[in-house]
Amino acid sequence: MSLRSLPSVDQLLQSGSELITAYGRPLTVAAFRLVLDEIRDEVRAGGGTPSNEPILARAESHLISWTKPTLQPVINATGVLLHTNLGRAPLSGAAIRAMDEVSRGYSNLEFDLQTGKRGSRLIHAEAILQKLTGAEAALVVNNCASAVLLTLSALASRKRVIISRSQLVEIGGGFRVPDVMKQSGAKLIEIGTTNKVRISDYEEALTESGPLSVVVMRAHRSNFKIIGFTEEPELKEIVENAHKYNSIFVDDLGSGALLDTAKYGMQHEPTVLESLAACADVVLFSGDKLLGGPQAGIIVGRAELIAKIKKHPLARAVRADKTCLAGLSATLLHYLKDEAEREIPLWRMVSLPLEQVKGRAEHWKRELGCGELVLSESTVGGGSLPGESFPTWALSLPVKSPDKFLARLRKNQPPVVARTENDRILFDPRTVLPEQDADLLKSIKTVLMV
Ligand SMILES: *Cc1c(COP(=O)(O)O)cnc(C)c1O
Repeated sequence: MSLRSLPSVDQLLQSGSELITAYGRPLTVAAFRLVLDEIRDEVRAGGGTPSNEPILARAESHLISWTKPTLQPVINATGVLLHTNLGRAPLSGAAIRAMDEVSRGYSNLEFDLQTGKRGSRLIHAEAILQKLTGAEAALVVNNCASAVLLTLSALASRKRVIISRSQLVEIGGGFRVPDVMKQSGAKLIEIGTTNKVRISDYEEALTESGPLSVVVMRAHRSNFKIIGFTEEPELKEIVENAHKYNSIFVDDLGSGALLDTAKYGMQHEPTVLESLAACADVVLFSGDKLLGGPQAGIIVGRAELIAKIKKHPLARAVRADKTCLAGLSATLLHYLKDEAEREIPLWRMVSLPLEQVKGRAEHWKRELGCGELVLSESTVGGGSLPGESFPTWALSLPVKSPDKFLARLRKNQPPVVARTENDRILFDPRTVLPEQDADLLKSIKTVLMV
């Protein structure tokens, strides 16, 4: 091909009406220009023969890659229930419907249907949270990290916040709770040591700080355990101590379970009700960890403090959007109606009997005609229940190169994420939604045939 015989962009547009319909004129023009530039470069470079691939097809492949969503569904066969990198909690049908409905048209997000006047978006999840937890008041924000930032900004800016060194956690992605806390303008008073904190450490810090000047905070160790030579006072004792010095006690639970994880053969995860029963003034937790809902940060506690938090300017900056409020309310309703185990995917996965997990792995094995079943472990993950795992049956495939096999699985549509154990690929049925079975098997078959 010589440069002279190259068509013009206008000529290409005349034969590219299908591309214009699919991708719009400006983007199609940009793709044609890029392809023409590429061909000119190839011709000028001399050595290489210019590609014979038709110009339209080359433009289309650019258009496809430019418009492909970067965020897409994947099949999680890792057995990690709350995989932060894979989007944490899958939502219940009711939550998805509620989010869909509220985003299709208009809603009474901030409109009082009785008076016809302006209303508040903050009321939407509040009543359910009050009923569910017995807390005087509640507020929903963007996520739990913003709940920490907002709460301390409203209650502790330029004041002291006492926290044990054993709770200075990094929550993942390099984000550290103490850094988020400092952003509020609070002065962190670290007490105790990494493995031990005593009530006398709290007393000392409170005495030094003087009355009314401090917040005492607990941050739950969501993603690690301290074992061995350790000591930490009971929550009730810490709260009573804080109140003795007229201080506010803020409990950052992170995951904040509403159900008792111990009932499912796991370690006990602190619940929201326990914190409130211990008289914590404000309790913070995530919407998309053990709650199993959309990304959100939930703040519950004493009415007078929540009112102060609601009024802080940052509350506007970290507010929850209407789809979040709709999805979260629907999720919370499952707990209120005592149907969480049946309706919320996360709790369905947790409570799935081992025999049923095995049955699905057997089905996969039959369909694929290879592999073997192994007793393995699913984990909760996502900054909940550190190191906590429970039994599962996985399908194990021996492969020549596990890394290459995993890479091919990730390239499929939809991508599949699995894990390796002793050079074998493990597929855990617990985290694969039943409706994804066919796609998963097709994907594995494709890779096995390579
Ligand atoms: C996970 C976690 C957070 C942050 O929650 P996000 O909802 O991810 O913002 C804060 N504190 C603790 C203790 C956590 O475990």
